[in-house]
Amino acid sequence: MRFRHHKQDIFIPDNRDPLAALERVTHLGIVSHQDDLEIAAYHGITECFHSGDKWFGGVVVTDGAGSPRKGPYADYTDEEMQQVRLMEQRKAAFVGEYSIMIQLGYASEEVKFSKRQDCAADLVTILETTQPEVLYVHNPCDRHDTHVATFLRCIEAIRALPKDKRPRAVYGCEVWRKLDWLLTDDKVMLWVDKYPHLLRPLLGVFDSQISGGKRYDLAEEGLRHANATYFDSHTTDKTSLLTFAMDLTPLAMDDAMCVEEYTLGYVRRLEDDVRKRVRAYS
Ligand SMILES: [Zn+2]
Repeated sequence: MRFRHHKQDIFIPDNRDPLAALERVTHLGIVSHQDDLEIAAYHGITECFHSGDKWFGGVVVTDGAGSPRKGPYADYTDEEMQQVRLMEQRKAAFVGEYSIMIQLGYASEEVKFSKRQDCAADLVTILETTQPEVLYVHNPCDRHDTHVATFLRCIEAIRALPKDKRPRAVYGCEVWRKLDWLLTDDKVMLWVDKYPHLLRPLLGVFDSQISGGKRYDLAEEGLRHANATYFDSHTTDKTSLLTFAMDLTPLAMDDAMCVEEYTLGYVRRLEDDVRKRVRAYS
């Protein structure tokens, strides 16, 4: 199995044949960068861990070029850093017992502009082969440009498939814009209480990102506790670890639905909610 970019990398922790490893995937995550899966698609990773009949597949579309280089990595060339990040992503796949880890190797600019069709075509191949029950992608309100471009390539790829081969559920997940601001009815709640001890090792393998002083491992753990506590002021915590997502399944099922309008609908409902409350007590 090969994808279009010469930097592509496939890693299968249990050495299964690549086609078989892809076909057994039930929960698939497609994100921009190394370590995004372990933040955005963590629900899928823990749903599949040791489950026996569910398998997580990970896809990172970019090559890690331009990553911050701090601490012990300060003198690394960009090429050396790309190799470090590729290996870190493989380590996470091993720790999380993923079925398959695919790194497509595109530069961010290629995902956004020059090779967007190649990128979407690779994603079509992956989606067609896996036909996952659940697909985790970036949410379209994310504030990282590459995340939004990757999300759009995912929608293009999904819409290139016949409807009976599309993922049954598509969730837009949190990385660089968290989703606490969604109205309660707009929130998909992804409980992540299973294997709580996995979170730190899964993020800890991305040493090159954490060594510079960005403690993503602690931040994500704290965020999930905060999501659970602040979800509802009236009830006690039903779960202690919670992530939020947008339900993007309608965009995946209806080709005529406008991505921009669907996305802005969430923002407008927030606007209405804020306006109503301020006006009620003015
Ligand atoms: Zn990212």
